[in-house]
Amino acid sequence: MNTLPLFFNLQHRSVLIIGGGDVAIRKATLIKSAGANITIIAKHIDDELKALLKDNNHRLIIKEYDKADLNADFAFCIVATDDNDLNRQIYHDCKSLNLAVNVVDTPDLCDFIFPAIVDRNPITIGVSSNGNSPVLARLLRAKIESVIPNNIGKLAQVAGEFRETIKNRLPNVNSRRKFWESIFGDNLNGVGVFSHNDNINLTALEKELSRFEKSNQHQGEVYIVGTGAGNPDLLTFKALRLMQQADVVLYDALVSDEILDLCRRDSDKIFVGKKRSCHAKSQDEINQLLVDLAKQGKRVLRLKGGDPFIFGRGGEEMLSCQAAGVPYQIVSGITASLAGASGAGIPLTHRGVATSVRFLTGCYQTGENFNGLKSTYQTDETLVFYMGLHALEKVVVSLTADLPSDTPVAIVSNASLPNQKVLIGDLTNIVEKQEQAQLPAPAIIIVGKVVNLYQHH
Ligand code: SAH
Repeated sequence: MNTLPLFFNLQHRSVLIIGGGDVAIRKATLIKSAGANITIIAKHIDDELKALLKDNNHRLIIKEYDKADLNADFAFCIVATDDNDLNRQIYHDCKSLNLAVNVVDTPDLCDFIFPAIVDRNPITIGVSSNGNSPVLARLLRAKIESVIPNNIGKLAQVAGEFRETIKNRLPNVNSRRKFWESIFGDNLNGVGVFSHNDNINLTALEKELSRFEKSNQHQGEVYIVGTGAGNPDLLTFKALRLMQQADVVLYDALVSDEILDLCRRDSDKIFVGKKRSCHAKSQDEINQLLVDLAKQGKRVLRLKGGDPFIFGRGGEEMLSCQAAGVPYQIVSGITASLAGASGAGIPLTHRGVATSVRFLTGCYQTGENFNGLKSTYQTDETLVFYMGLHALEKVVVSLTADLPSDTPVAIVSNASLPNQKVLIGDLTNIVEKQEQAQLPAPAIIIVGKVVNLYQHH
């Protein structure tokens, strides 16, 4: 972070603006709306600015700037004259007095910067690019504006008034958090009682609270969620929503930091491991942990790479929840085969070329490697291997017994990620090609004629 975002209380504080033109008007409008008393010093003051600051809280002084105009009583100083040399001089004068200063549109001469603002009072959101690209910050602000319900400010305000009642009625912090998350979460997702509703008042909140008190709020829940093959773009909305609600997150090696960062900030994050032959916790321990945490009333998120039910052991976790009577939700994710196929541009069931696709593993639960198809290979079939890269040679040798030797093979490594790589060959040469190319894990291996549709791009 280059700068620290803060929300500055300017009520009844004085702010100095030097300059009296368009730029000064923009800044004065903003600063006035935050409740500050403004002093303008300029040789000429625009009529619009005079009209804006006509009440007694503000001072308009028509004169040349002088260092004696500065003093440390001002909360800060905005410099907006059209004379760059003068602006720079004022900047240095402010620095010598330790007065925080912003020379408008000159990042080098700013102690602080103004963000692009979403103002849904009392909700305020500031977006900054730290001077790198104000246009991008503005576009981001517009995007945020578009996804925030109009009544969010009103909801926040009434929630503020309701705080004491809630504290008395729900003494437990976790219950309070759950209550607010259900109210605000549903509102943000456009599905709550207050969505599209301007009639938000204490009585309506009271009604929601009674409903909540009657529900079983101490019951925890397990979310078994697939995150997709690695790129956060592949997350589903549902995954993201649950990630932002969970109290505890159990994640494994395929879940990237970028994805973890999208989880609720104050959630506990527990690494439960699993890279080939390096397990931080056994599957039984994980199953037990999920159940125990949910029984403590927590919302437990089990984050898994790809899809939880495709070589993901999500099934075992689901069965443990069932056995313990713990409620659970399963959220599918984009499995590595699909991300790899789309990433490489290999349509797994291309019309006229393949009529089915099999997902296989290069490494069985027993630790043994793939040792041949269990049913006859059809030439219009696509095979996709997970966990096969380290055993590529074994996989290829086993397949050669059943498949024509010129069957095309693709390896897609780090599918969906910026470092995605594709290697193309056939059963006769892919092992040698991989020995040279050394594509890293994780990778899937696609076998079948659809690989011929691959085009380097
Ligand atoms: N549940 C996961 C699979 C877990 S098994 C899913 O649905 O995708 C782990 C294997 O998944 C790896 O050995 C590799 O074969 C594959 N894999 C996971 N992420 C991948 C990625 N980004 N690119 C290619 N293969 C990947």
